[in-house]
Amino acid sequence: MATATQLQPGLTAQFRQIIQADHLSQAYIFVGQRGTGKGAMAQWIAQRLFCTNLQDGSPCGQCAECQRIASGNNPDVLTVRPEGQSIKTDAVRALKDEMSKSSMEGHSRVFIIEDADKMTTGAANSLLKFFEEPYPGMVIILTTTAKNRLLPTVLSRAQIIQFPAPSVPQVAAHLEEAGVDKNISTLLASLTKDIAAGEALAADEDFGKQLQACLGLLALLAADDRMAFPYVQTDLMKTVSDRPGQERVLAILAAAFSEALARSYGREPLVLPNASEITGLSSLGPARLAAGLAAALEAAELLRSNVGFQADVERFCLRVLNRQ
Ligand SMILES: [Zn+2]
Repeated sequence: MATATQLQPGLTAQFRQIIQADHLSQAYIFVGQRGTGKGAMAQWIAQRLFCTNLQDGSPCGQCAECQRIASGNNPDVLTVRPEGQSIKTDAVRALKDEMSKSSMEGHSRVFIIEDADKMTTGAANSLLKFFEEPYPGMVIILTTTAKNRLLPTVLSRAQIIQFPAPSVPQVAAHLEEAGVDKNISTLLASLTKDIAAGEALAADEDFGKQLQACLGLLALLAADDRMAFPYVQTDLMKTVSDRPGQERVLAILAAAFSEALARSYGREPLVLPNASEITGLSSLGPARLAAGLAAALEAAELLRSNVGFQADVERFCLRVLNRQ
């Protein structure tokens, strides 16, 4: 799992300063999409508070305290997360009991509720008093992808920290960790810019067929083969049944030309699988690649103004083939 420092170097540095200056608040809400490091940051803060071997103001990650927190075995760092679609009321009740005990103890205790928007309103309400009057030493961290689903009373009593969206390489790295083929991880990341959506697309059979059909079309275009035109109807159209699919196909075609153009200037492949269909495009030469890229971008624009998809792709093929 990627660490907070890797995922959010800026926020980690800020929290390092905040804790060093002893300005840590008692309640935070970490807001951001999946994969932005909200859970990792909560763990980093907990480790920072308990680590016995701080390195330059950061937890070492190695000492017994850091390891106990990482494995979820520190009784003073409690995490509740959803089981299935919701956070069970029992889990919130147990957490509340632990929070109540903190009044007696007075030392640092960290309570983390992941996907806090999945608590029932009743459960969230039952925690309100801890937001209103936290006990000394208590730190409460809620994480959420949907801030608007939290109670306004909770939102108003915590500091809200926005986690910026991950970059394309970060999304790609997560997808690879989740078992997605390295050859297409960056393509999926650049098409979706979102880990959950990227995973869903990776598992989508239609996407696999669309990608293959795009590669087939690109191979014909690279060979200057006029069969590219009928191929749109006979092969490509069969793989595309909806608007998102249409947009994806045009994005893949544009990416292929952009990438082939970059490669013709000696740059490394960035986004697309290192398939022979893409490298083959380079035989068209920079001028035609640039024209092909412009045609693909224009096709995407035309699709947005409701030009029919098939006619749009056929026009794109003709522009590449006619060397205009
Ligand atoms: Zn440590």
